[in-house]
Amino acid sequence: MSRVEPLLTLKPKEESHWRWYILDGLLALGSIFLLTGVIWLFQLYQKIPDSFLLYLLAILSLASLRGLSAALLASFVAFFSFDFFFVPPLYTLSVTKFEDVLTLVVFLVTAIITSQFASTLRQRAEDANRREHETHILYDLVRATNREEDLELQLSIFARAVVEVFSPWGIRDCLLLLPDERGVLTPHISACQPIERVELSSDEKVAAEQIMTRGHIVDLFDSTTLRAEHVSDSGANPTQGAAQKTTDGSTMKRYACLVPLKTDIKVIGILRLLIEHDGRGETIDDILSLEHGHPTPKAVFFSTFLEQAVAVIERGHLRQESLRVRVLQQTDALRSALLSSVSHDLRTPLSTIKTAATSLLEEDVQWDEETQRGFTAAIEREADRLNSLVENLLDMSRLEAGSLHPEKVWYPLDALLRDVLDRMQPLLEGRTVQTYLPDHIPPVEVDAVLIEQVVTNLITNAVYYTPAGSPIDVSIQVQEEALVVSIADRGPGITLAEQEHIFDKFYRVLGKAQMFGEKRGSGLGLAICRGFVDAHGGRIWIEGREGGGAVFRFTLPLSSTGELEP
Ligand code: ADP
Repeated sequence: MSRVEPLLTLKPKEESHWRWYILDGLLALGSIFLLTGVIWLFQLYQKIPDSFLLYLLAILSLASLRGLSAALLASFVAFFSFDFFFVPPLYTLSVTKFEDVLTLVVFLVTAIITSQFASTLRQRAEDANRREHETHILYDLVRATNREEDLELQLSIFARAVVEVFSPWGIRDCLLLLPDERGVLTPHISACQPIERVELSSDEKVAAEQIMTRGHIVDLFDSTTLRAEHVSDSGANPTQGAAQKTTDGSTMKRYACLVPLKTDIKVIGILRLLIEHDGRGETIDDILSLEHGHPTPKAVFFSTFLEQAVAVIERGHLRQESLRVRVLQQTDALRSALLSSVSHDLRTPLSTIKTAATSLLEEDVQWDEETQRGFTAAIEREADRLNSLVENLLDMSRLEAGSLHPEKVWYPLDALLRDVLDRMQPLLEGRTVQTYLPDHIPPVEVDAVLIEQVVTNLITNAVYYTPAGSPIDVSIQVQEEALVVSIADRGPGITLAEQEHIFDKFYRVLGKAQMFGEKRGSGLGLAICRGFVDAHGGRIWIEGREGGGAVFRFTLPLSSTGELEP
């Protein structure tokens, strides 16, 4: 599995709400009292006529550092402190002069408006920071998943990212449930445990099936986030809800949260999130809850994060689908090629046989003996052709079906070659066949029938696709790990472009080579050779020959000992 750089995580909220407010209060009171003390001690209100502006400075700082609540509290405390300490009559809250009342009111209104402006700016800056951070996380996630081709790897990156990024929300594990081919929801990828060890509780199974069948009606922000929460004494099974005491005495709740992965039209999978929550900070449930009927920005971020998994799964499905279509297209093309080739190759000899037989049976015409022999010879030749075609087709279908099981025995390959050449003597008439066989050829473990077929096909081609009378060379080379059999001719050879396809099924070169013989092949001979050689763990290929012609070579692996089996 490839290494993935760790993703940024969400920033945890350092303080809980009430702590935050207490600190706000202390800072507001502290700063205003301190400022009042300084103004009073140094008699600044007499030296600086608008000394209340100093309060505005403190309120502005609080608004931009701590937010609106601290600034508002400071505004009111400053209003009363100013009135009490610096507005005559001193040390009472009553005000006698109209100008003083006006100054105080203007001060309070200015303080409140300034607080609001400053805290709004602060909120905006915070939102911008948060959005930038979230965009960064999403960008990293997209980059990490796009770098992998494999769907499983992409999903495992996503599952780990959920745990890494949302750990401040209490997420400790993320399990992805996807429907298998039969539509049964099964655990697919887990961020923290091997998938074989993952087991769903019966509650979870029922809940997950419900989420899947509710389809697009399921709403992510309410009942869709289904909690399987159980509070028991110990957390024996991580998928079951449990409550445990933590070291500092607070109660740690553990439960599973099932979240649907939805496209526009359906639910395509489910995330089971394992949550641990000690009562402090936010959990996924708080975050996914609606605020004034709208999803919170955090909930929007979470669903954008999930959309990445949906996109990855959808892309994977599309890839599989297009692969399936391609395979179907190829199979279809193969089937029509097979059909047209077979129908043509079967029909030609059949029509020759039919014509010859009909002519022989003609009662009105008296055929002389020579013509009759010609008809009978044609029938025999075409019947042989049909026979070899049917045999080829049978061999090919055995190879395709994977039902070819070579029955290997230890065999001397030179003897096998000589046997084949003897049997092919009638076909080789008028040809010079040179054999180059070294003295000590170690035996090989082969199915002699299949290898004889390979040699026969190659020699037959060397006869039919080369000019009459041209020589054929047959040789064996002993190499360290294999025997190499070569059949070389002095025909037109095969171009580099054609060499690539020559071993494909039904591939025939319609060029110079076709002009020599009268062989009407089916393009199966070399494909069968390759299948048979492969079945022996060997390799077959073609090379151009210096001085013209083609050399077909194939290898047969030698045993480690080279000894004949007893
Ligand atoms: P076929 O039944 O058509 O002979 P093969 O698979 O045996 O099918 O051969 C595929 C094609 O390869 C033939 O159509 C022929 O054109 C070409 N070929 C095979 N052997 C030779 C050779 N020794 N020299 C030139 N061309 C050859």
